[in-house]
Amino acid sequence: MLEEKNIPQKDFEEIAEFIPGPEPILNRNGTFIPVCEPDLRGNEKKYVLDAVESTWISSRGKYLDLFEQEFAKKVGAKYAVAVNSGTNALYLAVAALGITQDDEVIIPTFTMISTANSITYLGSKPVLVDCDEFWQIDVSKIEEKITPKTKAIMPVHIYGHSVNISKIERIAEKYRLKVIYDAAEAHGAEYNHAPLGMIGDAVCYSFYGNKILTTGEGGMFTTNNKELAEIARNLKDVAFSKERHFWHKRLGYNFRMTNLAAAVGLAQVEKFDELVNAHRINAMAYMTQLNNVNGITTPKEASWAKNVYWMFGIVVNHKKFGMSRDKLRDFLADRGIETRTFFVPIHFQPYYYEQYKGERYPIAESLSRDGMYLPSSSLLTESQITYVCNAIKEAHET
Ligand SMILES: *Cc1c(COP(=O)(O)O)cnc(C)c1O
Repeated sequence: MLEEKNIPQKDFEEIAEFIPGPEPILNRNGTFIPVCEPDLRGNEKKYVLDAVESTWISSRGKYLDLFEQEFAKKVGAKYAVAVNSGTNALYLAVAALGITQDDEVIIPTFTMISTANSITYLGSKPVLVDCDEFWQIDVSKIEEKITPKTKAIMPVHIYGHSVNISKIERIAEKYRLKVIYDAAEAHGAEYNHAPLGMIGDAVCYSFYGNKILTTGEGGMFTTNNKELAEIARNLKDVAFSKERHFWHKRLGYNFRMTNLAAAVGLAQVEKFDELVNAHRINAMAYMTQLNNVNGITTPKEASWAKNVYWMFGIVVNHKKFGMSRDKLRDFLADRGIETRTFFVPIHFQPYYYEQYKGERYPIAESLSRDGMYLPSSSLLTESQITYVCNAIKEAHET
């Protein structure tokens, strides 16, 4: 774990074009439009003060119970267990499902590092799959990765767009695999008009500061399986047993969320629809304005999906647009517009490089080279979106 890994220089040069350059320096003298900003203008302050005044600031208290209940309702799940991060929600799901040493779990290579790490912590191996046209795990390439060691699939609803759940569940049933959905970026997203919490062994969310709902740091494990919910609740609380105090029958973790964080969470859940809709409204405004810009691809929405556009991503075709993704980022940074590059695929991460050496995933790689997201805050105004789009058009014309 402490060992720092690196990609050998010679290998790095071969893949360098797919690795984003350094972050551009933002012009912060004048305009500044951040990629994301939490909206804390509801009952957040009131509930946090109330929690402080009640002295219930640790991991018990009314806000935790209320937050879990209200969040479960919103995502269509029967049980919700609040934890201290999205990473640990996934880790908890892996542990609670008994996935362990030498087991294999299939994930998209195009994802955030936590998806892979949650599997690696207990000695299991993430097995990688490329993306499809929606930037999601390519479901048609999952079966060829299944071996006798495969125990689960961990699909990720990237940037708020649902994966094709029916197809994944069919594969899972055929090979008797568990399914843990990483919905860290997909609060409020739907599959065939149903909320994402209804299907799968577990669905995990993040409440990091830039997610659609936030608690500062935090996460939620949800399931419809009562027994699994009880195991998860026990494991996240260092496996304190009910029968005696200081009596531990499992190797538990401390993944507990505080009542203070849950107070923020409850206030956020009260604005759930508003926050989700704001991201969709942003996306519609961006798409209308960027529709005809040659060389810019905007996100697609599959017929089965309600995309919540956690981040509004675009893919820049260097030749058609007339400027590379990294040059466009510099151009926008000069105008006070913050952007972020897409994920660096797992197989190109220094920590994982050796493990997947020689494996190539062309779609994920091209997204890593050409993809970026634009300011996507729920607080973004239409005139800010117009400012961003005009800057992109100006870059195209220069
Ligand atoms: C944010 C994120 C996580 C991790 O959540 P944290 O709360 O930051 O630990 C996991 N998976 C994906 C896809 C994410 O975007």
